[in-house]
Amino acid sequence: MPMAEETSFQDLQIHDNQLGSKINDAACKIAREVANEGDAMVAGGICQTPTYLTTMDKEKTKAEFRKQMKVFVDNGVDFIIAEYYEHVEEAVWAVETIKEYNVPVAANLCIGPEGDMHGVSPGDCAVKLVNAGAEIVGVNCHFDPPTSIETVRLMKEGLDKAGLKAHLMVQPLGFMTPDCGKQGFIDLPEFPFGLEPRIITRWDAHKFARDAYNVGIRYIGGCCGFEPYHIRAVAEELAPERGYHPTGSEKHDPWGQGLRLHTKPWVRARAHRDYWENLKPSSGRPFSAALSTPCNWGVTAGDELLQQHKSETSVEEMKNLIKRNQVKDSNVVNDTPEVFN
Ligand SMILES: [Zn+2]
Repeated sequence: MPMAEETSFQDLQIHDNQLGSKINDAACKIAREVANEGDAMVAGGICQTPTYLTTMDKEKTKAEFRKQMKVFVDNGVDFIIAEYYEHVEEAVWAVETIKEYNVPVAANLCIGPEGDMHGVSPGDCAVKLVNAGAEIVGVNCHFDPPTSIETVRLMKEGLDKAGLKAHLMVQPLGFMTPDCGKQGFIDLPEFPFGLEPRIITRWDAHKFARDAYNVGIRYIGGCCGFEPYHIRAVAEELAPERGYHPTGSEKHDPWGQGLRLHTKPWVRARAHRDYWENLKPSSGRPFSAALSTPCNWGVTAGDELLQQHKSETSVEEMKNLIKRNQVKDSNVVNDTPEVFN
């Protein structure tokens, strides 16, 4: 799918008015070529805009969405994924804009069970999105698989109460983040370049797929941190329902059964589902805590700190930001680095 990162689209447009569209145009063509090899669809993606955070102006924000939409309409994508919205108001504007082009919409918020950044509950968010015209609703990014499934379950509960129906979707992080606050993993000290110790195992991906299916979710995927082997695990877990295994299964024996050929007998003893399903993996990092302390700056749309920047953050601004970011975590260096003194 042409998931050319839409968060980057905005940045790219700032630096080169055409670059974001050119990248998405190339992505659409590659995606269609690959989709044609199998029975697959192509989706375009539009996401949150700095325009919303800065202005909260409906018409200006919709104009940004139309800019993003043009390339997808020109390429005749099968449907649009409106994803990564922290504010349901902006997501609703996105769905309304996509509907102008008469294409199906999958609308995803990047929220947890506490709801969006304005305190709208997941259930109410889902109702607003479906009423705006979304055929599929759910969440992507920001939270781990168990948290994201719980959020979609709450969305379903809200839809049921309102007597509405929609297909459900989930594309969580491929990281375990039980300690992140309302704003998700971007508040964790490890975001974005030190998250690897939190990566889910392929066995976690099996469990995620089954749990998501059991709450009624039928569009099951992954966001940041997900690797091809995780997606293969999702497809393999749901092979009984789908009626076939993914082609990637030819490359390995499921549930570690290829280990029956291992030279070491204690490793051969691991060649079965029970072993991997019940594994409690260690981090191998004796000075790491199991959980971190999220930043929790608590700024949201309209806040001065979220105003859009067209230039790099200055040294003076960096000093102020670092001072404010005095994370109370023994593993994080709190002093202002010398380069900024
Ligand atoms: Zn993501």
